[in-house]
Amino acid sequence: MRSLIQQLEQTARTLEPSPVRREAWDHLVQIYAHHFIDHIEQGKAYHFTENPAAGIPAYPFGEAPKPMEEVLQVLKENLHTAGINPASGGHLGYIPGGGIYPAALGDYLAAVTNQYAGIFFAGPGAVRIENMLLRWMCRLVGYPETALGNLASGGSIANLIAFVTARDFKKITSEKVRRSVIYLTGQVHHCVHKAIRIGGMAEAVVRNVPMDGHYRMDAGALEKMVAQDLAAGLNPFLVVASAGTTDTGAMDPLEKIGGICRQHDLWFHVDAAYGGFFLLADVDNPDGSTVKSAFKGIELSDSVAIDPHKGLFLAYGVGAVLIKNVKAQMASHYYRANYMQDADIASDELNPADLSPELTKHWRGLRLWLPLQLFGIQPFKAALEEKIWLCRYFYEEIQKSGFEAGPYPDLSVCIYRYVPERGDVNEFNLRLVEHVQRDGRIFVSSTTINGVVWLRLAVLSFRTHLREIDILLEVFKDGVGRLQ
Ligand SMILES: *Cc1c(COP(=O)(O)O)cnc(C)c1O
Repeated sequence: MRSLIQQLEQTARTLEPSPVRREAWDHLVQIYAHHFIDHIEQGKAYHFTENPAAGIPAYPFGEAPKPMEEVLQVLKENLHTAGINPASGGHLGYIPGGGIYPAALGDYLAAVTNQYAGIFFAGPGAVRIENMLLRWMCRLVGYPETALGNLASGGSIANLIAFVTARDFKKITSEKVRRSVIYLTGQVHHCVHKAIRIGGMAEAVVRNVPMDGHYRMDAGALEKMVAQDLAAGLNPFLVVASAGTTDTGAMDPLEKIGGICRQHDLWFHVDAAYGGFFLLADVDNPDGSTVKSAFKGIELSDSVAIDPHKGLFLAYGVGAVLIKNVKAQMASHYYRANYMQDADIASDELNPADLSPELTKHWRGLRLWLPLQLFGIQPFKAALEEKIWLCRYFYEEIQKSGFEAGPYPDLSVCIYRYVPERGDVNEFNLRLVEHVQRDGRIFVSSTTINGVVWLRLAVLSFRTHLREIDILLEVFKDGVGRLQ
């Protein structure tokens, strides 16, 4: 048996490359990464391609090893010739973020050391880092020191964790589902509807609260709806507000909504996945108020979803949920299996695994902690303020080119469209999007609100500067000239 084991060991040991081989691989990967970053500005944000990435299925893996050079070449040929380049500063569609470099180094070290950030007993340093980041975000939204939350994979799972916590805290057992009421607007992110369904509440009553002309929740209408539902014997239990909607970047009136929730004892959840980190920005509004003042009332909420892979420019893979009543979060997510009995040690740190559906997870904290340590918070603030101003600049300039614009942007997203002299307006604007995408230097996406097609500008990549906005303005001018 020993000789069989030794024989297997020889092949198995190739999984631990020699220092020489490791260095060679590191070197090739670094060349790839630096070439990618150094050429990003000249490259496209979107590639219009027939049969995209066909080389991937054509290059299967098998029993035998392959050389790094060859594998990277396949990646290069297939990744950067098709689809969106989410790392590009020209990415102004959906909600971009970019992918700051030291976050990649954090991921690299997290993967190499494979620290376990689920249980304090196993990874005290990793857990302290995760909880420290969460406490920082809790302070940012004005939560007390006793609040916590979890680092999830993104805003969708962050919203799901908050939803399930609210459902259980409000004791919405199966017999109550059909008469329990959730309030949101038509502009809420679709992941909230997903969370309702995944959370077993597809049969609940979901009320679309009307919005004002800025696509913000009408708090007066909310109040009326809650009163009507109570009078009808229903069980209102949850309001989901948005601090920065995805479509238009609108800020719901959090303070008013928070007051209504407090009065009627409703769970108040704020989806700030896109907008939350604008709490770091000090920017005045034309009406004399500040961008920050629109967040007033977020501290009244019971839970918040906030995405570092949007507002802190990290590569995809981390969204945070913040929950004021951490005991409620734990009640929904805690479970202790017998085989984990050794992990039950007393500590001043809660275990992330007790506050999440996940047990074993990537150590997501390091990708955020490392950049915050290396850069300090200041450049993040400056970049966020820059994004607000870039959106405002575009908002003004695009109207000078004859476009119709939606409401003045609350944050860094705005909507606009061109109304041609003749023909179908929606169809013209969809052709305009295609024109931008075919040019490829900039990527924008569109949306439809009440049957009207709007083009969106979402400025949130740390790589987006005046240069990109000016190119886009030029591409639009050219597009309008050609397509009319
Ligand atoms: C992006 C977004 C989400 C979803 O977050 P993911 O990180 O994509 O899962 C939820 N809400 C809002 C407002 C968003 O912009």
